[in-house]
Amino acid sequence: MYMGKEIKTIIKEMRRHIGATTATVQHEDPFRVLIATVLSQRTRDENTGKAAEALFKKYNTPKKLARARVTDIEKLIRPSGFYKVKARRVKEISKILLDNYNGRVPEDIESLLKLPGVGRKTANCVLVYAFGTPSIPVDTHVHRISNRLGLVHTKTPAQTEAALMKSVPKRYWLTVNELMVKFGQRVCKPIKPRCGICKLKKICRYYRSKAH
Ligand code: SF4
Repeated sequence: MYMGKEIKTIIKEMRRHIGATTATVQHEDPFRVLIATVLSQRTRDENTGKAAEALFKKYNTPKKLARARVTDIEKLIRPSGFYKVKARRVKEISKILLDNYNGRVPEDIESLLKLPGVGRKTANCVLVYAFGTPSIPVDTHVHRISNRLGLVHTKTPAQTEAALMKSVPKRYWLTVNELMVKFGQRVCKPIKPRCGICKLKKICRYYRSKAH
């Protein structure tokens, strides 16, 4: 089990790798965060960016998106993949926000989880990136890196989230997702992690298990 001091070292070294010295999370429009995170499911960041930009150019509020034609939404978000399912979901979400939440995105995880297509990762992303509420969104990067380092020993992202919430001090929760996603894209890649340049190899369980 990692101690507070080691967690601090992990956070510090990841920040050095990605070139950030302080928490870099900025709070954005909750509606955009929610819809863009739904669009980001099962696709790459660049595809999400293109789809979200096209969509918000035309429909940037729950009211406008709830009234939009599904076929038009499909056309705009096509780069995100699974665009037929996602188009229906974002329209439905917009309607629910209008009908049940006065056009606002709810700030509690229970309400967020009731929205169509919103699982724990998406809900936690909204809490962190829209509201600055300490939470740990666990995507494939966070799940993989946490297990490689030995921070957790888990099989599913939900288990990883629960384990990280126990082992990582709350003051770091807001930055864990951003740090690990960037660290996972640049250093601890899914295939062929760049252990040679990694400043965490001394304490990394995966690296040590490979008997370097
Ligand atoms: S040593 Fe390798 S496996 Fe461990 S965190 Fe660094 S890049 Fe990932």
